[in-house]
Amino acid sequence: MTAPVTDGTVAPNPWTTGRVAEMERIGDHLVRLRLELAERFAFVPGQHCVLRLRAEDGYTAQRDYSIASDPADPLLELMVECLPGGEVSGHLHDEARVGDELELRGPIGGWFTWTGEQPSLCLTGGTGVVPIISMLRYARRLDLADRLRICAVGRSRTELPYADELLAAGAFVALTRENLGDRVASPPYPSELEPLLDGIERAYVCGSVGFASYAVRTLRELGVPADTIRVEQFGATG
Ligand SMILES: Cc1cc2nc3c(=O)[nH]c(=O)nc-3n(C[C@H](O)[C@H](O)[C@H](O)COP(=O)(O)OP(=O)(O)OC[C@H]3O[C@@H](n4cnc5c(N)ncnc54)[C@H](O)[C@@H]3O)c2cc1C
Repeated sequence: MTAPVTDGTVAPNPWTTGRVAEMERIGDHLVRLRLELAERFAFVPGQHCVLRLRAEDGYTAQRDYSIASDPADPLLELMVECLPGGEVSGHLHDEARVGDELELRGPIGGWFTWTGEQPSLCLTGGTGVVPIISMLRYARRLDLADRLRICAVGRSRTELPYADELLAAGAFVALTRENLGDRVASPPYPSELEPLLDGIERAYVCGSVGFASYAVRTLRELGVPADTIRVEQFGATG
Protein backbone atom coordinates (compact mmCIF):
# COMPACT_ATOMS: atom_id res chain seq x y z
CA MET A 1 0.00 0.00 0.00
CA THR A 2 1.14 3.56 -0.73
CA ALA A 3 1.61 5.64 2.41
CA PRO A 4 -0.42 8.86 2.82
CA VAL A 5 1.66 12.02 2.65
CA THR A 6 1.44 14.43 5.56
CA ASP A 7 -0.91 17.08 4.12
CA GLY A 8 -3.80 14.65 3.86
CA THR A 9 -3.39 13.97 0.17
CA VAL A 10 -2.01 10.71 -1.10
CA ALA A 11 0.65 10.25 -3.74
CA PRO A 12 -0.94 9.28 -7.08
CA ASN A 13 -0.85 5.64 -8.06
CA PRO A 14 -0.79 4.01 -11.48
CA TRP A 15 -3.83 2.24 -12.88
CA THR A 16 -4.65 -1.04 -11.20
CA THR A 17 -7.44 -3.57 -11.55
CA GLY A 18 -10.33 -4.08 -9.20
CA ARG A 19 -11.98 -7.48 -9.28
CA VAL A 20 -15.66 -7.32 -8.39
CA ALA A 21 -15.69 -9.44 -5.22
CA GLU A 22 -19.22 -8.56 -4.12
CA MET A 23 -22.07 -6.69 -5.70
CA GLU A 24 -25.59 -5.79 -4.70
CA ARG A 25 -28.27 -4.11 -6.76
CA ILE A 26 -30.41 -1.93 -4.51
CA GLY A 27 -33.82 -0.82 -5.73
CA ASP A 28 -34.03 0.07 -9.42
CA HIS A 29 -31.12 2.50 -9.67
CA LEU A 30 -28.29 1.72 -7.26
CA VAL A 31 -25.50 -0.81 -7.37
CA ARG A 32 -22.98 -1.37 -4.59
CA LEU A 33 -19.65 -2.79 -5.76
CA ARG A 34 -16.93 -4.17 -3.49
CA LEU A 35 -13.64 -4.48 -5.32
CA GLU A 36 -10.52 -6.44 -4.56
CA LEU A 37 -7.64 -4.34 -5.85
CA ALA A 38 -4.57 -5.90 -7.45
CA GLU A 39 -2.55 -3.07 -5.86
CA ARG A 40 -4.27 -1.69 -2.75
CA PHE A 41 -3.72 2.02 -2.12
CA ALA A 42 -4.01 4.13 1.01
CA PHE A 43 -6.64 6.87 0.96
CA VAL A 44 -8.22 9.45 3.21
CA PRO A 45 -12.01 9.43 3.79
CA GLY A 46 -13.63 11.74 1.22
CA GLN A 47 -11.36 10.86 -1.69
CA HIS A 48 -12.51 9.29 -4.93
CA CYS A 49 -11.11 7.11 -7.68
CA VAL A 50 -11.40 7.00 -11.46
CA LEU A 51 -12.94 3.93 -13.00
CA ARG A 52 -12.24 3.11 -16.65
CA LEU A 53 -14.23 0.77 -18.85
CA ARG A 54 -12.58 -0.64 -21.94
CA ALA A 55 -14.44 -2.15 -24.90
CA GLU A 56 -12.98 -4.94 -27.02
CA ASP A 57 -12.25 -2.42 -29.82
CA GLY A 58 -10.15 -0.35 -27.40
CA TYR A 59 -12.76 2.38 -26.78
CA THR A 60 -12.57 3.60 -23.19
CA ALA A 61 -14.84 5.63 -20.92
CA GLN A 62 -13.85 6.79 -17.48
CA ARG A 63 -15.75 8.40 -14.60
CA ASP A 64 -15.08 9.47 -11.03
CA TYR A 65 -16.58 7.51 -8.13
CA SER A 66 -16.28 8.35 -4.45
CA ILE A 67 -14.95 5.71 -2.11
CA ALA A 68 -17.48 4.53 0.49
CA SER A 69 -15.27 2.14 2.42
CA ASP A 70 -13.24 2.79 5.52
CA PRO A 71 -9.50 2.99 4.68
CA ALA A 72 -8.97 -0.15 6.81
CA ASP A 73 -11.47 -2.19 4.79
CA PRO A 74 -9.62 -4.77 2.67
CA LEU A 75 -12.11 -4.18 -0.16
CA LEU A 76 -12.81 -0.86 -1.91
CA GLU A 77 -16.52 -0.04 -1.92
CA LEU A 78 -18.33 2.10 -4.49
CA MET A 79 -22.01 2.99 -4.73
CA VAL A 80 -23.17 3.92 -8.21
CA GLU A 81 -26.49 5.43 -9.25
CA CYS A 82 -27.62 4.28 -12.67
CA LEU A 83 -28.49 7.40 -14.67
CA PRO A 84 -30.87 7.24 -17.65
CA GLY A 85 -28.68 6.64 -20.69
CA GLY A 86 -25.59 6.67 -18.50
CA GLU A 87 -22.69 5.06 -20.30
CA VAL A 88 -20.61 3.95 -17.33
CA SER A 89 -23.24 3.82 -14.58
CA GLY A 90 -25.57 1.89 -16.91
CA HIS A 91 -22.88 -0.69 -17.63
CA LEU A 92 -22.02 -1.09 -13.95
CA HIS A 93 -25.68 -1.46 -13.02
CA ASP A 94 -26.84 -3.71 -15.85
CA GLU A 95 -23.80 -5.65 -17.06
CA ALA A 96 -21.19 -5.94 -14.30
CA ARG A 97 -20.87 -9.34 -12.63
CA VAL A 98 -18.92 -10.78 -9.70
CA GLY A 99 -15.46 -11.69 -11.02
CA ASP A 100 -15.30 -8.86 -13.60
CA GLU A 101 -12.08 -6.87 -13.60
CA LEU A 102 -12.35 -3.08 -13.80
CA GLU A 103 -9.52 -0.62 -14.42
CA LEU A 104 -9.19 1.82 -11.58
CA ARG A 105 -6.91 4.60 -10.41
CA GLY A 106 -6.83 6.39 -7.11
CA PRO A 107 -6.97 7.99 -4.74
CA ILE A 108 -7.92 11.38 -6.21
CA GLY A 109 -8.53 14.65 -4.37
CA GLY A 110 -6.93 16.19 -1.32
CA TRP A 111 -9.45 18.91 -0.49
CA PHE A 112 -12.69 17.08 0.23
CA THR A 113 -11.13 14.93 2.94
CA TRP A 114 -11.66 14.44 6.65
CA THR A 115 -9.03 12.96 8.94
CA GLY A 116 -11.01 13.30 12.15
CA GLU A 117 -9.53 16.43 13.71
CA GLN A 118 -12.24 19.03 12.97
CA PRO A 119 -15.80 18.72 14.30
CA SER A 120 -17.73 18.83 11.03
CA LEU A 121 -21.19 18.87 9.51
CA CYS A 122 -21.84 16.96 6.29
CA LEU A 123 -24.81 18.03 4.20
CA THR A 124 -25.40 15.67 1.30
CA GLY A 125 -27.90 15.01 -1.47
CA GLY A 126 -28.50 11.55 -3.00
CA THR A 127 -25.27 9.76 -3.93
CA GLY A 128 -23.39 12.74 -2.48
CA VAL A 129 -23.53 10.77 0.75
CA VAL A 130 -21.04 8.18 -0.56
CA PRO A 131 -17.77 9.90 0.52
CA ILE A 132 -19.40 10.75 3.84
CA ILE A 133 -20.04 7.05 4.47
CA SER A 134 -16.28 6.54 4.30
CA MET A 135 -15.87 9.35 6.86
CA LEU A 136 -18.58 7.83 9.06
CA ARG A 137 -17.10 4.33 9.00
CA TYR A 138 -13.63 5.73 9.73
CA ALA A 139 -15.02 7.86 12.58
CA ARG A 140 -16.83 4.91 14.13
CA ARG A 141 -13.76 2.70 13.97
CA LEU A 142 -11.63 5.36 15.69
CA ASP A 143 -14.35 6.38 18.16
CA LEU A 144 -14.57 9.88 16.62
CA ALA A 145 -18.23 9.78 15.66
CA ASP A 146 -19.08 12.70 17.99
CA ARG A 147 -17.01 14.93 15.66
CA LEU A 148 -19.10 14.13 12.58
CA ARG A 149 -22.67 15.27 12.14
CA ILE A 150 -24.55 14.25 9.05
CA CYS A 151 -27.65 15.54 7.34
CA ALA A 152 -28.40 13.32 4.34
CA VAL A 153 -31.14 14.36 1.93
CA GLY A 154 -32.77 11.84 -0.40
CA ARG A 155 -35.96 11.36 -2.32
CA SER A 156 -37.05 8.15 -0.60
CA ARG A 157 -35.58 5.62 1.79
CA THR A 158 -34.82 3.15 -1.01
CA GLU A 159 -33.30 5.82 -3.26
CA LEU A 160 -31.00 7.26 -0.58
CA PRO A 161 -27.81 5.17 -0.51
CA TYR A 162 -26.96 3.77 2.92
CA ALA A 163 -30.19 5.08 4.49
CA ASP A 164 -30.32 2.28 7.07
CA GLU A 165 -26.66 2.67 8.04
CA LEU A 166 -27.10 6.43 8.39
CA LEU A 167 -30.18 6.12 10.57
CA ALA A 168 -28.55 3.46 12.75
CA ALA A 169 -25.58 5.80 13.25
CA GLY A 170 -27.86 8.64 14.38
CA ALA A 171 -27.54 10.77 11.24
CA PHE A 172 -30.37 13.16 10.42
CA VAL A 173 -32.12 11.98 7.27
CA ALA A 174 -34.51 14.26 5.36
CA LEU A 175 -36.60 12.59 2.67
CA THR A 176 -38.24 14.89 0.16
CA ARG A 177 -40.79 12.53 -1.42
CA GLU A 178 -41.93 10.29 1.40
CA ASN A 179 -42.49 10.61 5.12
CA LEU A 180 -39.94 9.12 7.48
CA GLY A 181 -41.55 8.21 10.79
CA ASP A 182 -43.27 11.38 12.01
CA ARG A 183 -41.27 13.60 9.68
CA VAL A 184 -43.31 14.83 6.73
CA ALA A 185 -41.54 14.76 3.35
CA SER A 186 -39.55 17.98 2.80
CA PRO A 187 -36.00 19.26 2.44
CA PRO A 188 -34.34 19.96 5.80
CA TYR A 189 -35.72 23.01 7.60
CA PRO A 190 -33.24 25.57 8.97
CA SER A 191 -34.54 24.67 12.43
CA GLU A 192 -33.46 21.07 11.80
CA LEU A 193 -29.96 22.08 10.66
CA GLU A 194 -29.26 24.69 13.35
CA PRO A 195 -28.64 22.19 16.20
CA LEU A 196 -26.15 20.33 13.99
CA LEU A 197 -24.03 23.47 13.56
CA ASP A 198 -23.14 23.97 17.21
CA GLY A 199 -19.34 23.83 17.61
CA ILE A 200 -18.54 22.75 14.05
CA GLU A 201 -15.35 24.01 12.43
CA ARG A 202 -15.97 22.74 8.91
CA ALA A 203 -18.87 21.84 6.61
CA TYR A 204 -18.80 19.30 3.78
CA VAL A 205 -21.37 19.62 1.00
CA CYS A 206 -21.70 16.89 -1.61
CA GLY A 207 -24.25 16.13 -4.30
CA SER A 208 -25.45 17.31 -7.69
CA VAL A 209 -24.62 20.81 -8.89
CA GLY A 210 -28.15 21.96 -7.99
CA PHE A 211 -28.03 20.39 -4.55
CA ALA A 212 -24.61 21.85 -3.80
CA SER A 213 -25.69 25.39 -4.61
CA TYR A 214 -28.84 25.00 -2.46
CA ALA A 215 -26.82 23.52 0.42
CA VAL A 216 -24.11 26.19 0.37
CA ARG A 217 -26.75 28.95 0.24
CA THR A 218 -28.60 27.39 3.17
CA LEU A 219 -25.45 27.05 5.27
CA ARG A 220 -24.41 30.64 4.51
CA GLU A 221 -27.87 31.88 5.55
CA LEU A 222 -27.39 30.00 8.83
CA GLY A 223 -24.12 31.87 9.42
CA VAL A 224 -21.58 29.23 8.38
CA PRO A 225 -18.45 31.08 7.11
CA ALA A 226 -17.79 30.51 3.39
CA ASP A 227 -14.16 29.55 3.99
CA THR A 228 -15.16 26.62 6.21
CA ILE A 229 -17.40 25.01 3.54
CA ARG A 230 -15.87 22.33 1.28
CA VAL A 231 -17.88 21.28 -1.74
CA GLU A 232 -17.78 18.24 -4.03
CA GLN A 233 -20.14 18.32 -7.02
CA PHE A 234 -21.20 15.29 -9.04
CA GLY A 235 -21.77 17.20 -12.26
CA ALA A 236 -22.99 15.86 -15.59
CA THR A 237 -20.25 14.60 -17.86
CA GLY A 238 -22.33 14.59 -21.05
C1 LIG B 1 -15.64 13.64 -7.61
C2 LIG B 1 -16.83 12.87 -8.13
C3 LIG B 1 -17.31 11.78 -7.40
C4 LIG B 1 -18.42 11.06 -7.87
N1 LIG B 1 -18.90 10.03 -7.12
C5 LIG B 1 -19.99 9.35 -7.52
C6 LIG B 1 -20.53 8.28 -6.72
O1 LIG B 1 -20.01 7.95 -5.65
N2 LIG B 1 -21.63 7.63 -7.20
C7 LIG B 1 -22.22 7.97 -8.38
O2 LIG B 1 -23.23 7.34 -8.76
N3 LIG B 1 -21.74 8.99 -9.14
C8 LIG B 1 -20.64 9.66 -8.76
N4 LIG B 1 -20.13 10.68 -9.55
C9 LIG B 1 -20.72 10.91 -10.88
C10 LIG B 1 -20.05 9.99 -11.90
O3 LIG B 1 -18.69 10.40 -12.11
C11 LIG B 1 -20.71 10.04 -13.31
O4 LIG B 1 -20.87 11.38 -13.68
C12 LIG B 1 -22.06 9.35 -13.32
O5 LIG B 1 -21.95 7.98 -12.92
C13 LIG B 1 -22.65 9.40 -14.75
O6 LIG B 1 -21.77 8.77 -15.64
P1 LIG B 1 -22.41 7.95 -16.88
O7 LIG B 1 -21.29 7.54 -17.74
O8 LIG B 1 -23.30 6.87 -16.35
O9 LIG B 1 -23.34 9.02 -17.57
P2 LIG B 1 -23.04 9.78 -18.96
O10 LIG B 1 -23.09 8.80 -20.09
O11 LIG B 1 -21.79 10.59 -18.78
O12 LIG B 1 -24.27 10.75 -19.03
C14 LIG B 1 -25.62 10.26 -19.23
C15 LIG B 1 -26.62 11.35 -18.97
O13 LIG B 1 -26.62 11.69 -17.58
C16 LIG B 1 -26.24 13.06 -17.39
N5 LIG B 1 -25.33 13.02 -16.25
C17 LIG B 1 -24.04 12.62 -16.25
N6 LIG B 1 -23.52 12.68 -15.00
C18 LIG B 1 -24.51 13.12 -14.20
C19 LIG B 1 -24.60 13.37 -12.81
N7 LIG B 1 -23.57 13.18 -11.99
N8 LIG B 1 -25.79 13.80 -12.32
C20 LIG B 1 -26.85 13.98 -13.15
N9 LIG B 1 -26.83 13.76 -14.47
C21 LIG B 1 -25.67 13.35 -14.99
C22 LIG B 1 -25.56 13.48 -18.67
O14 LIG B 1 -25.69 14.85 -18.91
C23 LIG B 1 -26.30 12.65 -19.70
O15 LIG B 1 -27.52 13.25 -20.03
C24 LIG B 1 -19.04 11.42 -9.09
C25 LIG B 1 -18.55 12.52 -9.81
C26 LIG B 1 -17.47 13.23 -9.34
C27 LIG B 1 -16.98 14.41 -10.15
